[in-house]
Amino acid sequence: METGIRGRIAIVAAASRGIGRATAEALAAEGCRVAMCARNGEALRAAAEKIRGNSGSDCFTQVLDVTDAEAVGRFVEAVVQSFGTVDICITNAGGPPAKGFLDASLEEWRQAIEANFLSTVYFARAVIPYMQHKRWGRIITLTSITTRQPVPDLVLSNAVRSAVLGLVKSLANEFGKDGILVNNVAPGYTATDRLRELAQARSRALGKTEDEIFSAWAGDSALKRVADPREVADTIVWLASERASYITGQTILVDGGAYKGL
Ligand code: NAD
Repeated sequence: METGIRGRIAIVAAASRGIGRATAEALAAEGCRVAMCARNGEALRAAAEKIRGNSGSDCFTQVLDVTDAEAVGRFVEAVVQSFGTVDICITNAGGPPAKGFLDASLEEWRQAIEANFLSTVYFARAVIPYMQHKRWGRIITLTSITTRQPVPDLVLSNAVRSAVLGLVKSLANEFGKDGILVNNVAPGYTATDRLRELAQARSRALGKTEDEIFSAWAGDSALKRVADPREVADTIVWLASERASYITGQTILVDGGAYKGL
């Protein structure tokens, strides 16, 4: 399938590992010039090096905390200085800790709102003017199956991710006239470090082995396995591509059929 995004400039936030990293790799494989950020400089450089080696693609990196609004603005400016513009923006951050409601502190609520909602606001504010100028843009937010059904002990994610959907719908409506498409990708259980950390937390809390926790997650999906990060990344690439040119304001679940609603 020709995606039509060769040469496009793509920002991928929180790209040093997991789904963000897989997304940066997949966009680079399609010929995009990729700008990656994350907090861990060493992991970020290693990820970028691998992308350069595999795809020969240009790769810009900057160490960045996506909860820092000014730093996000400066990062986008630096990408534009380096690559000339920005066409595609994938917003992402690490997920909030696994907590029940009474265990989550107010500080953890604030952090979840900063990382998993406001960071998307910061990126959208910074990239939309460039996309308006070109009359072409793709903003894709990365959230969770929790936007469709709550997951036990992920109250922070269950609550905060919904705000992203309101934002996605609003941006899609406001900027569709400018050729900017805004969509959300919601993964189910996906084999990343984040999932391994969640498995450890559940294993401690429930007295089960991590293998048992993973088997239960796999069993929740219709496909009876957890996802590979590349399967989420491929969906993001498709949404960013010319092949998804009439899709905006949508949430696409990449959950192997775990969500059972209609
Ligand atoms: P991960 O923990 O493996 O990777 C997260 C990445 O985010 C890392 O590169 C980390 O350095 C970076 N990061 C975290 N906080 C940051 C910050 N403040 N500023 C900059 N970078 C930051 O996570 P993942 O599994 O790839 O998940 C990505 C997103 O998808 C998360 O929001 C997660 O909650 C969500 N999600 C994951 C799963 C899953 O099963 N893996 C399921 C549903 C939703």
